[in-house]
Amino acid sequence: MIRMNGKSVYKGIAVGPVVVLKKEDYRVKRTKTEDIEAEVFRVNEAIKVAQEELGNLYEKALKEVGESSAAIFEVHQMMLEDEDYLDAIYNMIRSQMVNAEYAVAVTGDNFSEMFANMDDDYMKARAVDVKDISNRLVKCLAGASAETDLSDEPAIIVADDLSPSETVQMNKEKILAFVTVHGSTNSHTAILARMMNIPALIGVPLELQNIHTGMQAVVDGFRGEIIIEPLDEIRERAIAKMKEENEKQRLLQELKGKENITLDGKKINLYANIGSVGDIGYVLENDAGGIGLFRSEFLYLGKSDFPTEEEQFQAYKQVAQTMAGKKVIIRTLDIGADKQADYFELGKEENPAMGYRAIRICLKQPEIFKTQLRALLRAAVYGNISIMYPMITATEEVLAIYGIVKEVQAELEKAEIPYKLPEQGIMIETPAAVMISDDLAELVDFFSIGTNDLTQYTLAIDRQNERLNDFYKPHHKAILRMIQMVVENAHKCGKWVGICGELGADTELTEQFVRMGVDELSVASSMILKIRKIIREMNMTE
Ligand code: PEP
Ligand code: MG
Repeated sequence: MIRMNGKSVYKGIAVGPVVVLKKEDYRVKRTKTEDIEAEVFRVNEAIKVAQEELGNLYEKALKEVGESSAAIFEVHQMMLEDEDYLDAIYNMIRSQMVNAEYAVAVTGDNFSEMFANMDDDYMKARAVDVKDISNRLVKCLAGASAETDLSDEPAIIVADDLSPSETVQMNKEKILAFVTVHGSTNSHTAILARMMNIPALIGVPLELQNIHTGMQAVVDGFRGEIIIEPLDEIRERAIAKMKEENEKQRLLQELKGKENITLDGKKINLYANIGSVGDIGYVLENDAGGIGLFRSEFLYLGKSDFPTEEEQFQAYKQVAQTMAGKKVIIRTLDIGADKQADYFELGKEENPAMGYRAIRICLKQPEIFKTQLRALLRAAVYGNISIMYPMITATEEVLAIYGIVKEVQAELEKAEIPYKLPEQGIMIETPAAVMISDDLAELVDFFSIGTNDLTQYTLAIDRQNERLNDFYKPHHKAILRMIQMVVENAHKCGKWVGICGELGADTELTEQFVRMGVDELSVASSMILKIRKIIREMNMTE
């Protein structure tokens, strides 16, 4: 029996056989070639096949996990068109007179190493993607498909690491769980696992040479544990727990259509967080009452230029119309820090999380901000949209925003374009905003507390830094007291207040939030029914 712990990415239980995915060792041989142009031709043909495979993967991911997660395959398609990358391959073939496989593999290694050595975390993460597309090309050159074969029986996938394309191309029906030796909680693979609702552990220090396909295992996502070749009693206990979980899921379905109301009649709004139009399916499927956070910056990521006003208008309009009168809170651009898009040319900063980001960019570069505001005000005609501004630290910022909104209104009026000025609120995600929440409450229609950044700034913990995981304590008394203070200040002014950071979905705190007077919780769609259950079983007066 082998028992190991890692970090759980999605909580759930799985019991079954293991399939160990060893990276096929493509020992690409270096051969001399006389016919250089034939090798270049082979590269170009392989690119066509790879592009087609990626296009199919994108469509598959779009259906299964939504647009924001599928976007990675569009990024891979773009990388396959990157001139620097392709020139490096062609150059190597021509200058060293080598075979296509060798040129692709070596270029892939070089580019991947270059990305891995960059300071920027986003760029660092691209190292895996370059490796992924290079491996795909090598396989295409060998005439093999890059698809991963799984056994017919559903299995627990154990691997050193999994690339996003390996994850998404697997048949979901055949996967009981993912367990990887490497990977970070913010990796695309982790995000995909979460979206697919599959138990997943990362960072498990398994020695893969000791584990074989066909061995039995138990994965416990609640404890972050994998047990290989478990004793019968452990296996039976896990099966019982799994049945219990399945039954809980089934019972949760019965809560669809029911109110989020405590036994003594206090109602709470339960909304969902989304990153793209494609996520609305999950929102409706899980019966969320609205959208409490649409992270609009995802419209800007993975692109080579700013999205146009029309593009944004169509996206916001589609969300508003699909939600048919339910509240849709769209947060304005929160780019910067970990969310980078090259065309913003933000430059390198010592402390990007405390740097030129979010509302600061919008106030300094109002043209970018105005394009988004125009799209939002126009889309507001088609549904129940609210606008939310991120990273606020001062009342002056809110007043400056209102000045820009007024200019946009005047422009739209002059051009006789229909628009509506929606409800406007702010995110409370800096300690400064908490401390002046009494003044801010006078200026805005609502607050939504961003506990992810509020925790980072209050506890002085970089939320991206894996090494600080043990110090990142969102249950810290300081955070809970801040939430209480914000709720009190909002209510004194007759304004509503919600939580849209990850803490809002923390079921250990649901009752406490309701008692504090929080009016709304905006969470991952998959958490809506679980939280509804807690609310419906609690009593405020107890
Ligand atoms: C937050 O900071 O809590 C939040 C919801 O915003 P993001 O996670 O996108 O920074
Ligand atoms: Mg934030």
